[in-house]
Amino acid sequence: MLFYPEKLKIPDLRMKPFIDAGEIWEYIDRAKASKERVRDIIAKSLNKHRLTFEETAVLINADEPDLVEEIKEGAKLLKQKVYGQRIVLFAPLYIGNNCINNCAYCGFKSSNHTVKRTTLSKEELIDQVIALENTGQKRLILVYGEHPKYNADFIAETVGIVYGVKSGNGEIRRVNINAAPLDIDGFRKVKDAKIGTYQIFQETYDEETYKKVHLGGIKRNYEWRLTSLDRAQEAGIDDVGIGALFGLYDWRFEVMGLVRHTNHFEAVYNVGPHTISFPRIQYASELNIDKSHIVSNADFTRLVAILRLAVPYTGLILTARESAAIRDEILQFGVSQIDGGTNIEMGGYSKHESRENQDIDFEQFQINDNRTLQEIMEELIDHKYIPSFCTACYRLGRTGEHFMEFSVPGFIKRYCQPNALLTMVEYLEDYAQQEVKAKGYKLLEDKLAEMEPDHFKEKLIEKIQLIKDGKRDLFF
Ligand code: SAM
Ligand code: SF4
Repeated sequence: MLFYPEKLKIPDLRMKPFIDAGEIWEYIDRAKASKERVRDIIAKSLNKHRLTFEETAVLINADEPDLVEEIKEGAKLLKQKVYGQRIVLFAPLYIGNNCINNCAYCGFKSSNHTVKRTTLSKEELIDQVIALENTGQKRLILVYGEHPKYNADFIAETVGIVYGVKSGNGEIRRVNINAAPLDIDGFRKVKDAKIGTYQIFQETYDEETYKKVHLGGIKRNYEWRLTSLDRAQEAGIDDVGIGALFGLYDWRFEVMGLVRHTNHFEAVYNVGPHTISFPRIQYASELNIDKSHIVSNADFTRLVAILRLAVPYTGLILTARESAAIRDEILQFGVSQIDGGTNIEMGGYSKHESRENQDIDFEQFQINDNRTLQEIMEELIDHKYIPSFCTACYRLGRTGEHFMEFSVPGFIKRYCQPNALLTMVEYLEDYAQQEVKAKGYKLLEDKLAEMEPDHFKEKLIEKIQLIKDGKRDLFF
């Protein structure tokens, strides 16, 4: 039942479930994907308008190969037109793999007795962060199982430790979180620790499937999870990341679920999600799921393009769960963030071993892109992407930057691209081998040559020189 405040007579939808499976299927069943309609919808998105629920369903139903191509082309164009060639880089850092839940798809589930359980001690955590900083990382996402040990105080403490580690010119400037849902007080505590984004994936928006794959623990409670990021918003964290684990249920339903979640945030909190993630199920120790909804590469590419068009202002994250080849292909359809140099083995970053020697018994699932950060930087630069470690908006309190990038004319030109270039120069100076350094500086030259000769360009050139002279952490 909805609660109506006396005076306003507006339904208060805060912390109320917002998924109606029947409604989602009705949209999918009814939406007709004529060529004209699909083209109009792509054009609407290219004009920087959010798509409605119904329009998203039309794109989902457009399965003729030429229409699928048009959707992918549209997503590509939108990325080029709105965001340019920047790709933000980060790395995940697993803090602890104890877990009371029993998620059928996850290697950390409580019933898996082969996995080795551990929580990083303070010293081990510092070692991991030093190892990450020494490769050039500036942005981390800390990942935790769900366990009473990993409460809000613990999460806040680990965030503080990470921010405190400095190695050479290295430092972590933004710490994001992927952990279990908290209550409002808990979210307040982690907000006070100065986290960036709090990310929680619903896994599946279909309640029936949700119950089937979550076999024990707190996570069995669908509503507690569905409304978790509402509680984060209530606690003042407006920088939230949503996601669905593709492969548990029909991908079309999950895309609609993500869009419904976005609509809910917009309607209730007046701010959409900062990021959307679309992890696809990978091999895990004791993986135990019904394989009928596994998503093919073709559908995966398609769904990323649809999400790009449906929610044009939000960051899209593509992780090292996917192979280098898939990542390279899908990057063009609107992905804005990727992880690089990823190692999800507990304590794995300080081991300096090749991925081949890593131990699946310490891991949540298997990743498929084993490239080092340097290799990824080189490939991005080779493909004319600008790798970025920028954290400027978050640190200047310019919240909602993902929306500003999208909606404020000149924002990317004035802030995002220059900041991306500055963080790239820091990387080239501090961590790049000669060949990557030379390629990076060539890209910088090309990008500077494309810029109009104005005050902003002069300021940027000044700051680049300061970095070459040894200054760090300069941004607009
Ligand atoms: N314990 C926290 C939770 O459940 O929200 C942290 C999440 S977990 C460490 C991060 C995410 O990995 C999960 O939300 C899930 O979407 C994803 N994941 C779990 N098992 C996976 C698998 N086998 N393949 C790919 N992604 C998986
Ligand atoms: Fe635990 Fe999260 Fe894995 Fe579920 S997905 S078993 S809650 S670590």
